[in-house]
Amino acid sequence: MPKARRKAATEYDVIIIGGGPAGLALACSLHDTPLRLCVIEKQPVEQIAQAAPDGRDIALTHTSKTLLAEMGVYAHIPAEEISPIKQAHVVNGTSERALRFDAKTDGHGELGYLVPNHFIRRATYQSVKGQKNLTIITGQDVQAVQTNEQTASLSLADGRTLQAKLIVAADGRFSPSRKMMGIPTSMRDFGRTVIVARLSHTKPHDNTAFECFHYGRTLAILPMTKGQSSAVITLSSHETAAVMEQSPDDFAHDVQKRFGNKLGTMKLAGKRHAYPLVATYADRFYGKRYALVGDAAVGMHPVTAHGYNFGLYGQNVLAREIKKTLSLGLDIGSNDVLSAYNRQHRHATLPLFLGTNAIVGLFTDDRPLAKAIRGAIIRAGNFITPVKSLITHQLTATSLTG
Ligand SMILES: Cc1cc2nc3c(=O)[nH]c(=O)nc-3n(C[C@H](O)[C@H](O)[C@H](O)COP(=O)(O)OP(=O)(O)OC[C@H]3O[C@@H](n4cnc5c(N)ncnc54)[C@H](O)[C@@H]3O)c2cc1C
Repeated sequence: MPKARRKAATEYDVIIIGGGPAGLALACSLHDTPLRLCVIEKQPVEQIAQAAPDGRDIALTHTSKTLLAEMGVYAHIPAEEISPIKQAHVVNGTSERALRFDAKTDGHGELGYLVPNHFIRRATYQSVKGQKNLTIITGQDVQAVQTNEQTASLSLADGRTLQAKLIVAADGRFSPSRKMMGIPTSMRDFGRTVIVARLSHTKPHDNTAFECFHYGRTLAILPMTKGQSSAVITLSSHETAAVMEQSPDDFAHDVQKRFGNKLGTMKLAGKRHAYPLVATYADRFYGKRYALVGDAAVGMHPVTAHGYNFGLYGQNVLAREIKKTLSLGLDIGSNDVLSAYNRQHRHATLPLFLGTNAIVGLFTDDRPLAKAIRGAIIRAGNFITPVKSLITHQLTATSLTG
């Protein structure tokens, strides 16, 4: 009997695991290269093309807006879904005193822009759909990844093997391929969960975002379009089920009360979504012919609204390093390329990753000393210009390292 011939692996230059916002953004950033690209996504194509609302409303910095515009993604986001943030107030407990940021007095038109995550996902897909140098394989789970000095390869659930010069993982904060590659990752489980929901209300929000560090719970109210707001409630994980099961009216009434009726009568205007809070940071963002982008590299706590922004900067840095190497005729999967990306992206993200976790620790600690320190920070913040400028700069960042 003739021996069954082993099927040859399909070859690409760059394979991206994960067709989420970070993975598709990288494919988009490499559209003007001769590189043969492949994105593998385990969800079916409809869930990428017509991503369903997931309750996440993403606060984009000015840098992200610029990057998205350059990539052609921003134009695909419906203008009526983009909500500018003109002011932000941070409140401690029941105090009337707030740390205030104002786009006008800080010399900007807006502090940032809120866009529902599913519109970013749809717009990114729209931008890469039909891209000449890109193959998108959907409905396929990556089962194994192997790399060495010469090449990188992976196998799919349907038995196919693909080969490339470089594999980039954009497969989320619990990245299965990062595990396969043996890259250690620091994880901090906050033991808390965030519940997000859209609410309508009878008073206008004036495009002001609120972050209220109430005792036991944190409540952010984000000004969205159509006169609605997004409530982001952080609470201890054991309370999640009870809040998710509250009747829509009880839930809305509870948010309204905790927010001191500032926006009048509130009504639930969509589904509630719950996300357990675990922050992750990979010990290194690369291995042999393998790189991590998006949440697979840095999984932020959402309180400082930087996860997606970081993912977008990171893929841009990697794309620039790849293009630079390509123009010199050198190997795009080499350690030189990947370590340059690693260095720059760690430099841009580590201080804010650690700072965010420290803020979360301080602002969710209900011991008297922590409460007093929070109050002092908020009082001082309004008067110490450098502190305020630093935070405003983080919100409105216009340089790549934000
Ligand atoms: C409540 C909330 C609010 C947030 N607010 C903000 C904000 O205001 N600003 C901000 O910047 N960020 C925010 N974020 C963070 C932001 O949502 C994430 O950083 C971003 O979505 C991560 O994108 P990603 O592409 O890296 O990962 P993901 O969106 O997790 O995508 C990973 C993709 O990989 C696919 N995949 C996984 N494993 C495999 C496999 N084995 N084979 C094939 N495909 C695979 C998945 O199906 C998925 O499509 C928020 C997050 C939450 C939870």
